[in-house]
Amino acid sequence: MRSPQKRCFYCGRWFRPDPRTAAQKACGGAECRRMRHARACQSWRIRFPKDDEARRGKTRAWAKTYPDYWRHYRTGHPSYVRRDNRRRQRRRRAG
Ligand SMILES: [Zn+2]
Repeated sequence: MRSPQKRCFYCGRWFRPDPRTAAQKACGGAECRRMRHARACQSWRIRFPKDDEARRGKTRAWAKTYPDYWRHYRTGHPSYVRRDNRRRQRRRRAG
């Protein structure tokens, strides 16, 4: 049996939720999925405010034991380098 239609929380269009998800709120539209994900991240950051910091600390500690890892990774992944540089630039501009 096909699942009943629901209204997308973001754009208000009717959509048929994936049968594997009971509480799907967003349709398959790229912008709706992006907004839903942003909200989920926001809610995570509110619920676990120290998570980011803890993860960064762990990564830094790990990187100390493998000092060349990121340099090697960057030489093999140019698209990552571009994305990372852009992200760093944005963050610096945002202050
Ligand atoms: Zn939608």
